[in-house]
Order: sequence, then C-alpha cells, then structure tokens
Amino acid sequence: MSPRAAAIIPAGGIGRRMGLTLPKQFSPLAGVPLLVHTLRCFENTPAIVEVVLVVPEEYRNQAAEMIVAYRLTKVTRIVPGGRERQDSVQAGLMALSTEIEFAVVHDAARPFITPALIERCLIAAVEAGAAMAAIPVKDTIKRVSDAGRIENTVDRQRLWQAQTPQVIRVDLLRRAFAVAAETDFIGTDEAGLLEHLGLPMTVVMGSERNIKITTPEDLLLAEALLMKDERDRESLVGGMRIGHGYDAHRLVVGRPLVLGGLLIPHDTGLLGHSDADVLTHALCDALLGALAKGDLGKHFPDSDPRYAGVSSLVLLEQVMALAAESRYALVNVDVTVVAQKPKLAPHILAIREKLARVCRVDLEAISIKATTTEGMGFTGREEGISAHAVVLLAKLARI
Ligand code: MG
Repeated sequence: MSPRAAAIIPAGGIGRRMGLTLPKQFSPLAGVPLLVHTLRCFENTPAIVEVVLVVPEEYRNQAAEMIVAYRLTKVTRIVPGGRERQDSVQAGLMALSTEIEFAVVHDAARPFITPALIERCLIAAVEAGAAMAAIPVKDTIKRVSDAGRIENTVDRQRLWQAQTPQVIRVDLLRRAFAVAAETDFIGTDEAGLLEHLGLPMTVVMGSERNIKITTPEDLLLAEALLMKDERDRESLVGGMRIGHGYDAHRLVVGRPLVLGGLLIPHDTGLLGHSDADVLTHALCDALLGALAKGDLGKHFPDSDPRYAGVSSLVLLEQVMALAAESRYALVNVDVTVVAQKPKLAPHILAIREKLARVCRVDLEAISIKATTTEGMGFTGREEGISAHAVVLLAKLARI
C-alpha cells in the first residue's frame, strides 16, 4: 500500500528580489500564476492525497480564489506563513491531516517539478525516513575571503545543490522542529533541520529543469522552457500519421512459411517473389501508407532480381530508414494475421521480438494477433494467408 503523503508548499516569499508589485508566486508565467504551475504538478501526482498551501496572511483570500478559479482539488488548507521559511513549513505541518505519514515540502517557486521526481523522492523516503532532490554542482567553487580574495578551490566531487521536494516522515519532521525550537536553530531547508537532529537524509537525483525562480532572469528562463514544452507538444500532436496495409499470399507445397521474419514449421509455405512474408509486407505497406509514399511494389518491384528470395525484414529495414529520413518515429504497430493453420500463438512473441529489433522500438510497441476465419473463404480453405496492419508514426521535433 502506498503511504499517505501530503504536500506542504511554502509560498511565503514576498518577491523582494524580483521588484514585482505582486508576490512572485502570484505573478503570471505563460499567462498562469507561477504557483498554479507548481500546484498542478501535485494535482497530477497520484501519491499526493492533500496539499497545504502556506501564504502571507494578506494573500490568503487571493490564494483561495486562485484555487477555485484553477480547480485545484487537492488543496485542503491555506494557512498563513511565518517570518522565516522554517516557520511557514511548521505552520503547514501543523495543518496536515492526522493520517498523513509523509510530508512532501516543495518550494512554490519551482514550477518545473514533475510527478516522477516527486514519486522518486517519496519512494526513497519510505525506505530511509527522509529523502530530497539534489543535483551535483557543475561549476568550480571558490572559497573567497572577506577581502574578496580566493582562499582555495573547494573539491566539488561531493558537493550537491539542494532542491525540493524534501520528503520526510511526519514524526521525524515534528521532532526536528521541536529540537530546532529548543535550541534556537534556524535551517535554510528541512534537510538542515534533520542534519541538526543528526538524522540522515537520502539524496535523489533532481533535475536541471527544477529551477527556483528567484530573479527576473529566472522568470525569462522559465518562460522559454514552457514555450519549448508547448512547441514539443504541438509538434508531436501535429505530426501524427496513421497507416494501413493489407497483403495476401498463396500457400503451396515446397515453400518455407516465413511470418514476421520467423521460419515457422508447416507442410506448406507462402508463394512469392521474395520470402513472401505476408505479415512483414502488410506492415511495410502500412508504414509506407502513413508516409504517403506508395506501396511495397513501387519501392521493391517483383521484376527487380535484387529482391528475389530476399528476407522481407531487409525491406522493412529500408522502409524504416525512409520514415527516419522524413523524421518520423514509429509509435506502435498492430497486425492481424488471418490463417486457418498453423497455430501462430506459440510464435507470436518471437515474431514481435524480431520486428521490434528491426524497427528499433520497445516490444510493447509491436502487437501481433492471429485469427482463423472458421473455415470460410480462401484463408479458411488454407489456400493462402493474409495480414492486416495499422501503424502510428509521430514526427520528431527538430533538435
Ligand atoms: Mg506481398
């Protein structure tokens, strides 16, 4: 059973460094308040059951209106923040429902958090009690004296930059706050409070995109990142192509039966110029159809001696190369083979593996089904085998 986890979002900053009239968390990012971007991510994370938002007292009404306007259903409480971040997080902690086991503390000003990173931190915290996102320091770090001179270069091998979320078991976090209060300790983050208590915290690899918006330059960077996401989404949806292929070959004695590149033991085989692999032919035609580039016969004519007896997987490879040239990636394939005999079920996995390898996609992207026609028609009379294929292609974004 997954633990009951709640998010605490301290949004107490008043945006002094931003020179804004509104606190930065309410200022728009691509037309939507920064805080809403952050909260939407928690809405989309199944493991999070409630969200406690901590805002300056004078902005509580505005926050409440925003929650309604953007239909954020997981925000259960909006509580006033304190002077320091630590006070705000503590206020949030006190407002959590009693059944919550893990507190997921996340900066309101990190809108590029993802459900996947939240869940990775939560899984690590369930194991160790506490875990947080962080990334290795990239820049060379210098220690500088008050006089503005470099004292030394700090070994950055073991230096990590703290991010959020910081996920802590609620009882540990309560204890950390109690000890901090007793000893007048102020930490810059929750990890600091745990360190003060002498408790270890696991580090989870964060993301370079999980930036904290602190300066006007950060806001520009965030706008650019959002615009890129939007463009990628558009190019993916705009560039979807569907294709259909159908093929049939006659069954004769004295020929091998090859389906999806796999040699299948049977007393008859398919007749044709190449290996007569009806399944692969239907798939190639579906791909060419999605690309609007004609059919297999146009690209590899029967009259061309180069293709006599060739494995149809070679043709499939060339068709896939054609798709790649047009910057299309294969999303998925669904093929139905119509054959009275032999039984294909025992061979389907091997065929999928062969095709996935040639098409360079995951096994899950290749579906192969087989059916009989209950003795009806040419397939039912075992005069031949036919195959239907559909494919979906997606245009790759220009890098
Ligand atoms: Mg054919």
